[in-house]
Amino acid sequence: SPPSSPVSPLFPALRLRSDRPALRFGDRTLTYAGLARAAGDLAARIAGAGRVAVWATPSPETAVGVVAALLAGVPAVPLNPRTGERELAHIVADSAPTAVLAAPGAGLPPALGKLERIDVPVAGGAPGPLPDEPPPGSPALVVYTSGTTGPPKGAVLPRRAIAATLDALEDAWAWTADDVLVHGLPLFHVHGLILGVLGPLRRGGEVRHLGGFDVRGVARELSAGATMFFGVPTMYHRLAEALDDDRELAKALAGARLLVSGSAPLPERDHRRITAATGRAVIERYGMTETLMNTSVRADGEARPGTVGLPLAGVELRLVDEADGIGEIQVRGPNLFTEYLNRPDATAAAFDGSWFRTGDLATRDADGYVRIVGRKATDLIKSGGYKIGAGEVENALLEHPGVAEAAVTGEPDEDLGERIVAWIVPADPQSPPSGAELASHVADLLAPHKRPRAVRLLESLPRNDMGKIMKRALGG
Ligand code: ATP
Ligand code: MG
Repeated sequence: SPPSSPVSPLFPALRLRSDRPALRFGDRTLTYAGLARAAGDLAARIAGAGRVAVWATPSPETAVGVVAALLAGVPAVPLNPRTGERELAHIVADSAPTAVLAAPGAGLPPALGKLERIDVPVAGGAPGPLPDEPPPGSPALVVYTSGTTGPPKGAVLPRRAIAATLDALEDAWAWTADDVLVHGLPLFHVHGLILGVLGPLRRGGEVRHLGGFDVRGVARELSAGATMFFGVPTMYHRLAEALDDDRELAKALAGARLLVSGSAPLPERDHRRITAATGRAVIERYGMTETLMNTSVRADGEARPGTVGLPLAGVELRLVDEADGIGEIQVRGPNLFTEYLNRPDATAAAFDGSWFRTGDLATRDADGYVRIVGRKATDLIKSGGYKIGAGEVENALLEHPGVAEAAVTGEPDEDLGERIVAWIVPADPQSPPSGAELASHVADLLAPHKRPRAVRLLESLPRNDMGKIMKRALGG
């Protein structure tokens, strides 16, 4: 059960008001003193509001807006600026914010038209006292899930969960105030916002945001004093591709203290290519909007491609309904959300007593390292009396030189119950590998019953803003 000890304040470093840099976005820098001033001012203006939305562009204003809401104890709802009108209207109606915090000059879409707009300051204001922070159980953020398996749900995250997850990562990654993070992720999800912005701010370290992912920017910042990079697997794929003929990039990555991947499975092949070119392993961690971080490889541990490491400090993890060694991951600990907003039905369905059902499927190595093999909703294929995780077959397909990207789904089959279907982006569209070749490749690497029975060629895989493969769009 969650610790009862208070975890506030979330940002002790803000109270020191030092001249150390906190946030850099291009040539715009905010020190801890500047951030405390800007966020303190805004916190005083929004104090007492029920909930505020934050128009989460990759900007210092987004960080200031979220920090201000956290200081004021007003739950913040980060909005993805790329969300379509219909989904945005749903999120606004569902979360019912009274105002939207936005960078001055940012254009807001019609779905936000009824909200009071508050321009976020990044400078000015006389330094006043920061407010006392609310208790650990109070809601800090409402973050919408990625919508990979259904319409996004608003996860209500208490302050305790944010503090617990960031402190567990401090322990696992030996994360300190001396760390400087290179950041190229969007700021409306757990990965980019909680780990990428609130993480360094809680530690008293520095964030350098690139505005978006770019290989050259990562190389430049890691060569200029940055110590960590957090990315999603599609970013590591691009780094792996660029490493083929970029010695500077190899040197920059080799010099990083920590390279972290999460939000989706990192293909084993990309992991191995990066290690081969740089001598560095990528640290994989596994988390969700609802649970924040659950497992990670430790900075001083062994990074084994295809695994997401061990449960973090304070997190309990079990596998249930194991079949052929595969089970659903359930977790409990102080890192969990409290509920889905306005969805008591979904909240109740998500819990097994105090255990949260993640919907993710995994196996465990003998020493407890967790291997995610897919999602219960889309990735457990029941074929010929076996249960097969799509992820294992995807990794095997990616070992074939003719395969650039791969996704595996199950389709109804009269004979087998379900048949394994491989969706392939060929490395060379002029001469894609044949279905028979891929089937025997997988049969040789894994087992005959895990071979794809149909291969479909695509120009690209359908992915969302976090690079997650949208299997719902791969209709059979
Ligand atoms: P929705 O819940 O709306 O369908 P989503 O589950 O993709 O969308 P998020 O909360 O952003 O929304 O993503 C959490 C999921 O991402 C996890 O349940 C897991 O499937 C996947 N994931 C995160 N990190 C990893 C990782 N390191 N390896 C494999 N999968 C991961
Ligand atoms: Mg989910």
